[in-house]
Amino acid sequence: MDFRFTEEQNMLKETVRRFVEAEIPRELAVEIDEQDRFPHELLQKLSDLGFMGINVSEEYGGQGGDIIDQMILFEEISKKLPVLAWAAGNIILYGNEIIGTNGSREQKEKYLPKLVRGELKFAYALTEPNAGSDAVSIRTKAVADGDYYLINGSKMFITGAGIADIVVTNTRTAESKFKGITDFLVETRSEGFSATPIRDLGYRGSNTCEVHYDNIRVPKENILGGPECLNHGWKQMMRLLNAERLVLSSCALGIGEAALDYALNYAKEREQFGKPIGSFQAITHMLVEMATELEAARHLAYYAAWKETQGMECVKETSMSKYYCSEVAKKIALQGVQILGGYGYTMEYDAQRFLRDVLVLSIGGGTTQIQKNIIGKQLGL
Ligand SMILES: Cc1cc2nc3c(=O)[nH]c(=O)nc-3n(C[C@H](O)[C@H](O)[C@H](O)COP(=O)(O)OP(=O)(O)OC[C@H]3O[C@@H](n4cnc5c(N)ncnc54)[C@H](O)[C@@H]3O)c2cc1C
Repeated sequence: MDFRFTEEQNMLKETVRRFVEAEIPRELAVEIDEQDRFPHELLQKLSDLGFMGINVSEEYGGQGGDIIDQMILFEEISKKLPVLAWAAGNIILYGNEIIGTNGSREQKEKYLPKLVRGELKFAYALTEPNAGSDAVSIRTKAVADGDYYLINGSKMFITGAGIADIVVTNTRTAESKFKGITDFLVETRSEGFSATPIRDLGYRGSNTCEVHYDNIRVPKENILGGPECLNHGWKQMMRLLNAERLVLSSCALGIGEAALDYALNYAKEREQFGKPIGSFQAITHMLVEMATELEAARHLAYYAAWKETQGMECVKETSMSKYYCSEVAKKIALQGVQILGGYGYTMEYDAQRFLRDVLVLSIGGGTTQIQKNIIGKQLGL
């Protein structure tokens, strides 16, 4: 048994840590949140440093790293600017991972090198106004028209859809529930595509959008995996789920750690009744619980990731990780506000930002309740 990162992983962690320290001062994180603006310049800097190729094979210009490498990257960035981790996630997970796992040879050659160089942005569109947790009920339709498909419908909460070049769009192409879904690589410059940003509580700057497809013509070659993958969409999505749950777990770990450090520092400095508030047992115990649960969450997440890298069955563990990390981080952020007292309730302190950001992690990528349903099934219930 060995709980240590490898030398390369420690180097990666240190490099990302130095990047966020140097490039993301607190004022910039606050400005991006207040202005609700997409962090274009920081994403480009991450690309320039090669981070967008973290999970792309060397053949296509990447580093060929695994899910643990990705988690290290997302966790470190999320400590400073969670929305930047999501912007990178749209490329790393919904670009590289989707194309690398499901794309045809031509699609890999066409997209992966550009994704690595930061020349292309992807978004992933599954959720619809009437199909959220019940994603298999999507109704956005793709109908064959010669060598093309015509796509009509609407998607909801699509992160980065307004700045993406390609939106991987889940459509209904046949009646059969699970075997009637096809993923199309839809170019956002296509006539009939529109994306309208939604104002969110947290992850501000993520450009989360409502998306409309009005008779968009897409060539059949743009089916993910090529024309022979018609109706393979659900199966293709399933291959992404472990990675998605682990990436979101690591985002939660990053925010949880930032919120814990913030509250801990405050508790050491703030004095009441002539003593630092951290010396009151009630506050000490809160911080101890926060630190312990975060440690437990981190072990669960990296254990699940280790199983994934070993090619072992790990649906139960990745779902537990997604559920537990997001709920623990939420609890830590909430207790952080309490530890800051009245100051925690003001916009001048960061405690509120951690809380606003963390809330979505138990919603997106399958809610806590849906993860529990999956775990229940794995337990034979
Ligand atoms: C900021 C943000 C970004 C997002 N980005 C993307 C994106 O890029 N691409 C994308 O496709 N989607 C995205 N989503 C959508 C996200 O995946 C969905 O919001 C999520 O799956 C839940 O769907 P819903 O919001 O329709 O809630 P609903 O499914 O309506 O759920 C409402 C409540 O009911 C509960 N519930 C539903 N069904 C069950 C059940 N069977 N058992 C127990 N409880 C249940 C849920 O847990 C939840 O608490 C994003 C969402 C947000 C908020």
